[in-house]
Amino acid sequence: MARITIEAEYCKACGLCVSACKKGVIRFGGGTNAMGYHAVEPDETKGCVGCKLCAVVCPEAAIEVYR
Ligand code: SF4
Ligand code: SF4
Repeated sequence: MARITIEAEYCKACGLCVSACKKGVIRFGGGTNAMGYHAVEPDETKGCVGCKLCAVVCPEAAIEVYR
């Protein structure tokens, strides 16, 4: 299965990746990063298909996709 990593300190919580992922893999996390944003995080229980849409839409290049 594919998987993603999200660099929380780069994330500005714009939500573009959350909207882009049709598998529901990305959700807003409970904490805040050093900039005070509620960074998103991957939900490992959802099935990432490695389409890379999340990484493409992220303006902060915070997401890496492994497949
Ligand atoms: S690679 Fe595709 S399926 Fe996986 S988290 Fe990103 S948008 Fe969702
Ligand atoms: S698209 Fe990038 S900056 Fe925006 S919420 Fe997702 S990881 Fe954070």
